[in-house]
Amino acid sequence: MIILFFGCVSETKEQEVEKKSEPSKEPTKKPEPTSQPPAKVPDPSPTPQPIKTKPTAEPPPAKQDTTLKKSSINRDIKVDIIVDTDSFSPSDSELNEFFRVTNNILVDKADVEMKLMKTRRVSYSGIKNSIIISRTIVTNDILKKIYESEDPPEFFIFLRYESEDPPEFFIFLRADDTSATYGGYAIGIDLAGSCNRYRDPQGDKKNRVYGGLMDWKHMYSSCGYDSSDPKNPVHISNMSIDGECRNRRGTACIFREDFGYYMCNDNESLNSFYAKDRYNFLAASTVHELMHHFGEHGNYDHFGTEKCSEIMGGTSYDDDTLNTFQKNAGICPKLFEVFKASYQEC
Ligand SMILES: [Zn+2]
Repeated sequence: MIILFFGCVSETKEQEVEKKSEPSKEPTKKPEPTSQPPAKVPDPSPTPQPIKTKPTAEPPPAKQDTTLKKSSINRDIKVDIIVDTDSFSPSDSELNEFFRVTNNILVDKADVEMKLMKTRRVSYSGIKNSIIISRTIVTNDILKKIYESEDPPEFFIFLRYESEDPPEFFIFLRADDTSATYGGYAIGIDLAGSCNRYRDPQGDKKNRVYGGLMDWKHMYSSCGYDSSDPKNPVHISNMSIDGECRNRRGTACIFREDFGYYMCNDNESLNSFYAKDRYNFLAASTVHELMHHFGEHGNYDHFGTEKCSEIMGGTSYDDDTLNTFQKNAGICPKLFEVFKASYQEC
């Protein structure tokens, strides 16, 4: 059983550089709480007198994009969604919309569509008991590992597929300190007897099940939050603090009703791909974690790293870098090619 670990989701090239190093375990310096109220500022302008005009027809509702993109080569990857109900309780329609957006990014980048096999809602907290009563996998070796590990998501996943066919990629929605800090990370398990059509490029194994452990509530471009407990960020300022807003301290915050949190109020953030749709960030991050399984360089496989530029032949991304980064899910474009080329029938 092999676990990949990349603390991953970052927003800019500047932050990429920071995150090449191991994630710091030092607690974030707790910012001084300000005496100011949260930044949801009431509109101070007086209410204008209504102007009597002939009523006009209601404008048509904004056309919601419901496109589900298809692979032009009729290729898919089998995907499960696993929700840790101790962490999150998304509705079915929210999960469906997230899945649709994620599918569309993978089709755009790799011409592979995602085929949803099962959505599972399972409580994580029962894991140790479940493992203990499970007949087949209890060995001293495994029990030892369980009790040595505070947080063994790979065993949780292993149990899910002990007696059922696994997917080729699972999206595990769960908040732990790492996913809450970085947005998500890649994990994987090897299952004897299983076959993944997307062969592990390191060793050409076919029994690897790829996964991404994702923070469903991760906030893109969050503003004014004390994140000393990354799983429970608290809004304390109406201006950015610490490294928020791409290290621009003092950027004003704006409450995004459609996202449900305070975001950096600057044009670059608000016009970026991730800020255009509630699910773009999480969906791109999920595709990002899938792609990590097909890279050899860990954090150096990120978009914009020297290693990536070298692989891509020194392509310049100077124009609209942030959006180019985001539309590539923050990962080196080469990895989409490696992923596609890994396909073999079982
Ligand atoms: Zn990454």
